[in-house]
Amino acid sequence: QDKDRRIKARLFQSANWDALTHVQNYAAYDRAIGYHFRESVMHNKDLAMVMFDIDHFKRVNDTYGHLAGDEVLKRVASEVADAIKAINPEIILYRTGGEEFNILLPGYDINRTRPVAEAAFDAVKNLKIPYNEETLQVTISVGVSVLNESDHNPLDFYKRVDANLYHSKQTGRHRITIG
Ligand code: GH3
Ligand code: MG
Ligand code: MG
Repeated sequence: QDKDRRIKARLFQSANWDALTHVQNYAAYDRAIGYHFRESVMHNKDLAMVMFDIDHFKRVNDTYGHLAGDEVLKRVASEVADAIKAINPEIILYRTGGEEFNILLPGYDINRTRPVAEAAFDAVKNLKIPYNEETLQVTISVGVSVLNESDHNPLDFYKRVDANLYHSKQTGRHRITIG
């Protein structure tokens, strides 16, 4: 029975955490957004989302190799996780795709969210990643929004944040779009 419990705990761990970056994964994000969406609608509470994607990440892989790309992903995840936890230890960073990450902020309005997005942005901007003889540097594009009455489900909300991230990419990358 003790062994059963250990196996269950390990399965739960691997199902919800990303093996490369050691932050929570898409499955964990998907469960959390469903939960927070319902909570926010039922209790009329604020909910914010900050999504970001590493700029020209394919270039890192193409220039320095896939292992260098992996190292960048690990360092970006850990620096951003540290930076947002310094603001509020309860904030969770999710790796929702290859080089795409998401931060859910229950109880946050747009004014409280802005410094969180900026902390993530600055953490990456200031990050120098030693790799072999090189120093790697990357930037991120960010999309931010808060839940509103027109959001009928978590996907409506997600799509607006994604559109804002896309706007950051289209207008030159390395920027934050809030809206
Ligand atoms: P953009 O600025 O528009 O976001 O360009 P991009 O190059 O970052 O975006 P694109 O979607 O073209 O490329 C993303 C790359 O990320 C392609 C894929 O091979 C790489 N990638 C995804 N997951 C991993 C991973 O776990 N490790 C490594 N090394 N690369 C990954
Ligand atoms: Mg990218
Ligand atoms: Mg991407």
